[in-house]
Amino acid sequence: MSQVYNWQLGRTMHYPYEEKHPQWQFAFVFNTNRCIACQTCTMACKSTWTFSRGQESMWWNNVESKPHGGYPRSWDSKLLGMLETANPGGQAWDATAPDPAAGPYGQFKGKTIFEAAQTRIGPEGPQTVMGYLPTEDEWRSPNIHEDSAAGSNFAPGKFDGSSQLPEHRVWFFYLARLCNHCTYPGCLGACPRQAIYKRPEDGIVLIDQTRCRGYRRCVEGCPYKKAMYRGNTHTSEKCVACYPRIEGKDPEICEDGAPVETRCMAVCVGKIRMQGLVEIGEDGKWAPNPESPLYYLIRERQVALPLYPQFGTEPNGFYIPPRWVPRGYLHQMFGPGVDRAIEQYSCPDRELLGVLQLFRAQRQILFKFQIEKGPKIAEIPVRMPNGEERVQELFNDTIIGYNKFGKEVVRVTVDEPIIHRPAEKHANAI
Ligand code: SF4
Ligand code: SF4
Repeated sequence: MSQVYNWQLGRTMHYPYEEKHPQWQFAFVFNTNRCIACQTCTMACKSTWTFSRGQESMWWNNVESKPHGGYPRSWDSKLLGMLETANPGGQAWDATAPDPAAGPYGQFKGKTIFEAAQTRIGPEGPQTVMGYLPTEDEWRSPNIHEDSAAGSNFAPGKFDGSSQLPEHRVWFFYLARLCNHCTYPGCLGACPRQAIYKRPEDGIVLIDQTRCRGYRRCVEGCPYKKAMYRGNTHTSEKCVACYPRIEGKDPEICEDGAPVETRCMAVCVGKIRMQGLVEIGEDGKWAPNPESPLYYLIRERQVALPLYPQFGTEPNGFYIPPRWVPRGYLHQMFGPGVDRAIEQYSCPDRELLGVLQLFRAQRQILFKFQIEKGPKIAEIPVRMPNGEERVQELFNDTIIGYNKFGKEVVRVTVDEPIIHRPAEKHANAI
């Protein structure tokens, strides 16, 4: 096994292949505080890519109600349990000395799926990736436990729910998921046919259908269970990141060849999603670029965090954690950066609030933003998670977004204008 550097873990780790990086990396930020589980994203993906025979249970995009829901069922708790068994009591972080560049969340001291696999000796020697194959039953119900809450006493007459921040006593939240186009993909590491590859131009992870023989090792090795098997073709398939849109080659929508966000992102009703490409330097690290909205949210402000970074695949999907959920649960899911992220999101400063306005303001991928300062329009009292009272100042700034070619493609203000439609033109509008 090779040694590769995983910035999300703040250390090197074992991986079956040598370290190698694309020029740009497909990435996204989801704001879980805003998802309404309308499943528009899920259906946009389903109606674009996986509507054919044999793909009935392929939900490349899904939205599950946490903590009970999951597709396939219990995908995360099962793997967390396996890792705990492999390294009892050792799956912990040292967050005492975070380094913004090399390890912004501190250092993970436990075992990743690649490291834990070495303790499992099969007939061919140590395994390369720790994982499991979900059962047919676990694949059967894509939205099981929708809206099921946790954490309350529901005995008759003894309801003790509360919606007081910082933590609700009765809680759930929606977790939208797709392939993370990981830097060190578990699916790729597990494939004995070398049928899975990561594109050097944008980091998108694809399965070569002509090489795949349907051994399902990728299904087993993907910790997020986003590689899926198709029975009638005997091959595995996964999210293709709508690559014609990312390449700027969709003739219907890509103006002058400018990259456009994927279908699931572009349709998002709750405006929780922003997708883009981050530039990777020659040294394999994210090239510092605080003018890129994604770089700003993930690396500069650390308000968006990777999903289960401890699995070790360096996923490129990042989440602004939900404010009301018990911290222990969030720490396990998003790592030790949770408190800082929620603190910033609870009372965003002028610049962060500006960047948050860009979510779903435009379907072209934004490579750069700029803020034009406007007048102060309000002061809002805010109670912080630690109980401290603060005053948030609101300014009517204008936020401008630019596409790959530096062309302005969106301009929004913090104070959204109210537009009155003439009554005579829209007599039957509601
Ligand atoms: S479209 Fe957006 S708001 Fe609706 S379920 Fe998907 S991520 Fe959530
Ligand atoms: S999320 Fe799973 S399928 Fe996607 S790249 Fe990572 S390991 Fe592979």
